[in-house]
Amino acid sequence: MNDKVRVRFAPSPTGYLHLGGLRTALYNYLLAKKYNGTFILRIEDTDQTRFVEGSVDNLINSLVSLGIDFDEGPYKESDCGPYFQSQRLEIYHKYVNQLIEQGDAYYCFCTKEELDTMRAEQQANKLTTKYNGKCRNLSKEQVKQKLADNEPYVVRMKMPDDKIFNFNDLIRGQVEIASELVEDQVILKADGFPTYHLAAVVDDHLMEISHVLRGEEWLYSTPKHIFLYEAFKWETPKWVHLPLLLNTDRSKLSKRHGDFSVKNYLNKGYLKEAIINFVALLGWHAAEDRELYTLDDLSEEFSIERISKSGAIFDITKLDWMNGWYIRNLDIAYIGELCKPYFDDEDIDISNKQKYHKVLVRARDQITNLTQITEHSRMFYNDIQLSNEFLEIVNSEDSQKVLNWYLERLNQIDLNSWIKENLTVISKEGIKETGIKGKNYFFPIRLALFGDCHGPDIPMLLDILGKEETINRLKKFVI
Ligand code: GLU
Repeated sequence: MNDKVRVRFAPSPTGYLHLGGLRTALYNYLLAKKYNGTFILRIEDTDQTRFVEGSVDNLINSLVSLGIDFDEGPYKESDCGPYFQSQRLEIYHKYVNQLIEQGDAYYCFCTKEELDTMRAEQQANKLTTKYNGKCRNLSKEQVKQKLADNEPYVVRMKMPDDKIFNFNDLIRGQVEIASELVEDQVILKADGFPTYHLAAVVDDHLMEISHVLRGEEWLYSTPKHIFLYEAFKWETPKWVHLPLLLNTDRSKLSKRHGDFSVKNYLNKGYLKEAIINFVALLGWHAAEDRELYTLDDLSEEFSIERISKSGAIFDITKLDWMNGWYIRNLDIAYIGELCKPYFDDEDIDISNKQKYHKVLVRARDQITNLTQITEHSRMFYNDIQLSNEFLEIVNSEDSQKVLNWYLERLNQIDLNSWIKENLTVISKEGIKETGIKGKNYFFPIRLALFGDCHGPDIPMLLDILGKEETINRLKKFVI
């Protein structure tokens, strides 16, 4: 790719960033990274009725917290700004006026009632429901009069009647859509705001966007956009429509199926590394048969050619698997930082770093997301409370023999020798010395040190707890 790559993620601030939006953002970001291009964030807030308070902050924070930073956008003004469409109204008005003057757009004064009746009639006659072009033929004088009378109006593009729009989509190849399927789209609304179609085309041109990567749901809007590019005599960007996201039963993934916001996944204990990796593979795959990628790997490997045409299955079990993998394999100090809030929530004192990391090394093998971490760790910190059934086991003669032996033997070890190898030797020695083996040997120790019959092996338990805590725990259960 020789030309400068300039791409944009252009969300409408109608809610929190969800995984579908994240995929669009990510693919744009990756293309920019791969070709040393520019990634732009543009807020498409021209539909004031759908604006959701707090969503712009959420969009930006979610992207940045996942490591997908943008080069130009809100609070990162550059020559092409402002990046909120609501701050660009004058620009749009200028171009709408140009289209009207050229005869490529017209004022429409139809009322809501008229439009409703039109639609009802078309439906009754089993026709495609679209604007019937009633105001196309108003004379200049009629328009002038209506404007002078302050009649509310919108502006519509004048779609040619019998044109075949033929364009190349980098994923789908040649796409043909007949203009008769496309209506005279409103480009300027009664409230003076442009619609998405006009604003996006004008901005993509002025912001020198080279590739438009967006969801497949916009494929059928592309003729409207091409119409505008042709009317302005502008060069079109390259079109890349990303495959739909599907549930495992191949139905369309939609918000109705759950809270797909990035924030929700982060709150549920998913790592940003897993989220990025998972989302990257929703419709893209590498040349080799490989599943695990960091953001940096992806920036090198990503290519439009490997985005698939067919819908991408959203399989949560794959995300769980990846999340577990990252939890087990990323640096333990980093995992420790991420887990800290969960321990803080339970008032568990993790100031002993060495112990904390040992606890995590063991606990992270048991979990698929971070919210489960304390469930597998708190027994190393909190006092052990045993049920009557367990107490009975611990109080038996054999058990007491084992516990006493341990207490005495471990007391003899100095702190420097408290290492796994020695502890393993001692654990074996105990079997010989006490003459007790199997569960009669292991259960009492595990119960006293861990609170359950099943769990880590004895040397690991001793190693995690350390000498002092081990002795204290044993003492508690020695009668
Ligand atoms: N504002 C549109 C959306 O939220 C952007 C579509 C596009 O990328 O052109 O889906």
